[in-house]
Amino acid sequence: MLLLGEVWNPGGERLPAGAVYLQGSLVADVGPAADLKARYPQAKRVRFERITPGVQDAHVHPVYWGQWLDSLDLRDVCDPRAVAEAVARAASRKAPGEWIRGGGYVFDNYPNSRLLDAAAPANPVYLESRDLHSAWVNRRALAAAGVDERTADPAGGRVLRDDEGRPSGYLLERAVELVAKQLPPPRKEDLRRGLADLARRGYVAVQAMGDGPAEASEWVRQMALAGELPLRLAWTLPKSIWRSYTPEKIGEQLHVFGVKYFSDGALTSRTAWMVDTYPSGGRGMPLDDPREQDGEMADVLAAGFAPVWHAIGTRAVRELLNLIDRLEAAGLPARRNFRIEHAQHVTDADLPRLAGLRVSMQPLHARDDQQTVARLLGATDLTSYRWSEIAALPGATLLFGSDAPVAEPDLTGGMAAATRHPLRPAESLDVGSALHAYTTAPAAALGWHREEAPWGRIAVGARAVLALWEDGSLVGRVWRGKVEQVPKQ
Ligand SMILES: [Zn+2]
Repeated sequence: MLLLGEVWNPGGERLPAGAVYLQGSLVADVGPAADLKARYPQAKRVRFERITPGVQDAHVHPVYWGQWLDSLDLRDVCDPRAVAEAVARAASRKAPGEWIRGGGYVFDNYPNSRLLDAAAPANPVYLESRDLHSAWVNRRALAAAGVDERTADPAGGRVLRDDEGRPSGYLLERAVELVAKQLPPPRKEDLRRGLADLARRGYVAVQAMGDGPAEASEWVRQMALAGELPLRLAWTLPKSIWRSYTPEKIGEQLHVFGVKYFSDGALTSRTAWMVDTYPSGGRGMPLDDPREQDGEMADVLAAGFAPVWHAIGTRAVRELLNLIDRLEAAGLPARRNFRIEHAQHVTDADLPRLAGLRVSMQPLHARDDQQTVARLLGATDLTSYRWSEIAALPGATLLFGSDAPVAEPDLTGGMAAATRHPLRPAESLDVGSALHAYTTAPAAALGWHREEAPWGRIAVGARAVLALWEDGSLVGRVWRGKVEQVPKQ
């Protein structure tokens, strides 16, 4: 097959009116279109505006994304009757007794269970408000959780009740957990659904971050051994189980490469660990405190895993860099093996210390965090989402992803945010640099550019895992030598 169009390795060569000749699942030739047409006159020809290395999502939670896809998207629905109609439609597709879940609504009042009881008489229903601080449930859900007139309000929560004192179907704050703890845990089906959706969106690989229950690390191995993964999956283990595993690659299906740690929380909940105090007081908090992880990290590095560290606040980033420095001083190869996830807020003093590191960031978080950053850190904050400054550091590798389901794995939206920074225009990237963070960089960050059939660049002998573009949008991928279309979003 001969693919015609502009051939572009982001951050490198660009061949307008170029062509790529595929043989099986390898790139067999690259060059000017006229030359390749003459050389391969029999080849089937397909034309696109642009051909680049395949796109990756460098930070995603496929199990939870699959779970999210299976729940009702009620974002910004304000009328309880509209929500009940959506629930009734969902109930018609569910077996009796199966849970219906969803979230995102914004109500002015607290409805009782009646609309939901009528919409799904045979299914327990659990719906969360947009701010996640309350839940609307039906009688079946209350019964499944054993919540009745004898149930006391938990500390920090309230079960709303009717005149007779019976739970009416609405739960505030901590009381939501009474029902939430009955929800079925994530299943292999969720993982399958999440990965299928990511592949359908045109990703050729995704990097999963300490995802799901402990069994998920077995599910991905089973799927990889059976050749069932619809894209290449890079996997980080939760810290609780990594000692039972070794780094491994199963073909070009699965690459178990890292162990996930959390330096701190998140900005919106003011648990991101900061150097400076929040306007409301406090400085957030460490979770896996990097000041106490030297021994654990030495073990992780000795086992051949990459330590993959969530770090959002300025202090979290600083303490992580201190940890890396201490390990390096002890002769351990920390700098080239660590990965920082998010690195959302970085002080001027710490910025140059990110040189030589792999830094994984999420452009859509900057869009979603606009108001929060202004409110908590001030309108003139200069520490947030320093994409172009980080990309320019010597030896630093900037990787982009979505963190789905925290944000949608929306590549078009991510590219738009990356090239028009939602908070600070000066941090915007050019299209090539943004694309590099979605294609070449994530492959190199995992060492896939050194494999026998390298990933991440279009070159003779490379694996034919490509992205196909029209009008600046991803319209297809080449996966295992075949063109697959991406449905319009
Ligand atoms: Zn995440």
